[in-house]
Amino acid sequence: MRQLLTLIIITFSSQLLAQDYFYKKLEPFDPAIPSPEQFLGYPIGEHHTRHDRIVAYLQKLADVSDKANIITYGMTHEYRPLVILNISSPENLNNLSKHQADHMALVDPNNAKTASEDMPIFINLGYNVHGNEPSSSEAALLTAYTLVASQSAAVKEYLNKSIIFIDPTINPDGRDRHTHWANMYKGSPKVKDPADAEHNEAWPRGRTNHYWFDLNRDWLLAINPESRGKLKWFHEWYPNVVTDFHEMGTNSTYFFEPMKPIASKDPIMPKENYTKLNDLFAKYFEEDLNKIGSLYFTKEAFDGTYPGYGSSYPDLQGGLALLFEQASSRGHVQETPMGDITFAFTIRNQYTSSMATVRAAVENKGMLMNYQKDFFKSAISNANKSSVKGYVFGDPYDENRTRAFIDKLLLHKVKVHKLSADVTRNGKVFKTDYSYVVPAAQPQYRMVQTMFETYSQYSDSVYYDASAWSVANFYNMPYAPLTGSLSLGSEVTAENNVKEVAAVESSNYAYLLSWEDYNAPAALYYLQDHDVRATSAFKPFSINVASSAKSFNYGTIMIPISKQKISKDSLNILLKAVTDKYKVDIYPVATGYSSSGIDLGSSNFETVQKPKAVMLVEGSVSSYEAGEVWHLLDTRVDMPITKVPMRNFGGLDLNDYNTLVMVSGRYNDLDSADKAKITSWVSSGNTLITIRTATSWAISSKLVKEKLVEKDKDKKEEDKVPVKSKPYVDAGPNIGKQEVGGAIFEVSLDLTHPLAFGYRSNKMPVYRNSDVWLAPSASAYGTVARYTDNPHIDGFITPKNLNENLKGSASLIVSGVGRGRVVMFADNPNFRGSWYGTNRLFLNALFLGNHISVPKE
Ligand SMILES: [Zn+2]
Repeated sequence: MRQLLTLIIITFSSQLLAQDYFYKKLEPFDPAIPSPEQFLGYPIGEHHTRHDRIVAYLQKLADVSDKANIITYGMTHEYRPLVILNISSPENLNNLSKHQADHMALVDPNNAKTASEDMPIFINLGYNVHGNEPSSSEAALLTAYTLVASQSAAVKEYLNKSIIFIDPTINPDGRDRHTHWANMYKGSPKVKDPADAEHNEAWPRGRTNHYWFDLNRDWLLAINPESRGKLKWFHEWYPNVVTDFHEMGTNSTYFFEPMKPIASKDPIMPKENYTKLNDLFAKYFEEDLNKIGSLYFTKEAFDGTYPGYGSSYPDLQGGLALLFEQASSRGHVQETPMGDITFAFTIRNQYTSSMATVRAAVENKGMLMNYQKDFFKSAISNANKSSVKGYVFGDPYDENRTRAFIDKLLLHKVKVHKLSADVTRNGKVFKTDYSYVVPAAQPQYRMVQTMFETYSQYSDSVYYDASAWSVANFYNMPYAPLTGSLSLGSEVTAENNVKEVAAVESSNYAYLLSWEDYNAPAALYYLQDHDVRATSAFKPFSINVASSAKSFNYGTIMIPISKQKISKDSLNILLKAVTDKYKVDIYPVATGYSSSGIDLGSSNFETVQKPKAVMLVEGSVSSYEAGEVWHLLDTRVDMPITKVPMRNFGGLDLNDYNTLVMVSGRYNDLDSADKAKITSWVSSGNTLITIRTATSWAISSKLVKEKLVEKDKDKKEEDKVPVKSKPYVDAGPNIGKQEVGGAIFEVSLDLTHPLAFGYRSNKMPVYRNSDVWLAPSASAYGTVARYTDNPHIDGFITPKNLNENLKGSASLIVSGVGRGRVVMFADNPNFRGSWYGTNRLFLNALFLGNHISVPKE
């Protein structure tokens, strides 16, 4: 009994202490509202809170209070709900639809409505986009509690004047991965030694989502359900202020905006966003963090140039997005040269900034609302000043890829129309049956610019991330600016942005499927998985479909009826299922006799092996790139890939597979026996696919007889004594700009090579974010994609890298090893799940790789 009493007292006092630590100044609190501690059973900072408990607590607040209600805006890959807790005064929440309608009228440049005193400001407090930066979701609980339960005059005023949308966990799948890790290794007493397992998460770590995507790069590319759900919500509310909370290295302090002044200037952003608004908010963070004695820094680091961050995308929607970075405790407590850093301490800074954000937004409400109104008005006036009146685009051979690009435009509320009269621009023909127009003069003009414009002039050269994001190039989309009047047809909507396919007519002889359709590999895999024998045309031909000749290009899939194990009726049913599922066109033919080119019985038709693919993961492997491969095959091809942990490679029987994928990684865990095993397996006729640094590995470990471009001629120059002295302080930027942080360049393709099947143009954009400079293949027939003489399309590169390393180097080669081959990518064809244009190169390697020989002259 005494023990129990002692326990109660200790628990009680530690709770009091914990609450006091975070939010003393906003007392009194409504005793009817449970605090996070009361609800969870432990003080905030003592434990990492699972996502389901976070949701349960916010649900509880919504249940017990008339100042909160909760909505679900999506579901993650792992079926965790994505929620937002709306907090405001009961009056405001009762009139939420009216406030929403008023706000939407305000952001509409064609609506005369202006900001008024009775309109609440919209504040979106977003947390934990990187799952293993966990302090912010815990701060979300404290913030929600404070706003709902505090009876202070200040909080009452906030709720009267604002609607606060708390998104506690933008990345629940990643958060829970880290949460389980930190909790399962937590000691009692806690271990603050940085060497402890608690502070050293295992691969793939919790930063990313289920498919190991960085969701803080996905706001623009919108590949994942988390971002797609959020974007849909975002364009229904257009919050004035949006927070984006992160963590950084344990030995750092705290960061809030303003960011690095020069680099931060996205060329299409109003300057006022960076100067006036950030400086205004910084005063509030300064004041509140000074009060609790927290150290911080500003202005030195981070840039908001790339428009797909949580701290930049809202800026492109007339809001103010705010980046916060907290030194991470990575676990419950860690020792650092500056003393111990506790989880609770990291949470307190994020909580303090959350509350300061609300205060700043409420106190500057009118100004922020006028800023947003002006932002969308200036979109129209900027567009009217521009000579570019719109963009025309469309791929004549691949409607599914075109529609995937349109899907992105529509998600960002960019208006898209059918083209109503054929046009030719820059030598490209755009016909009405496959082309679309995006007018410049629309509220989302800045998103139009983001999607289509390219840049070559930069004020800074060290990028935190990408320096190019013209999404039209990601999709290898033929497009051109329009300067005259626009031929606008009907508007495209999400509902009608679907390719229509005709039902497959029965054939007694064979069926043909164009390889140019983005979904053709998925369709092929479906057929192979149902035991259908399919062949690929290694040369083009024309043949009668119905009664007129139709031309078919390299890679066309031919399905001969006489060679199948199933009846022709069963085959027809399968083909109907394929066209429904993947929206591909399948043509019946009644003859094998072509009007030109190869006949259907030609030996230039190769029976395509079903890929049995395996990929190495864990260890030094890039989880991003591995995730991109996994995501592509899972979500777009419906094809399984076995992910083998590096530590198990020794025991793996490679003969169970015909394709091995090695994405970027150091692969120093593979010993000479492992290398010999790979070489012997490739030599017996299989395909190894390497991407970026795995390509360097294949070359340096002499798996292939290929070379990297002789590196860094400038370094040799500097080796000469005396080295030219430079100021010490400039070392970081000088070295940083040598990196290719992410830019778009043009390659020329050998369209007759199986790895380039499915492409019609011999020029295409690729994404480069590495310094793997690959020399053209030693074989005359081995270089599939090579950088052109004038390769720059979009983004930053030093003249030295451009002229001495990039020009004329290879982007994709294939090298023969025995009866097999190694397909080597210098660039990442699957970057962030959004490079629809180069995905095909990778899928060709998977599906056609085993049919490629590398002839020697
Ligand atoms: Zn982060």
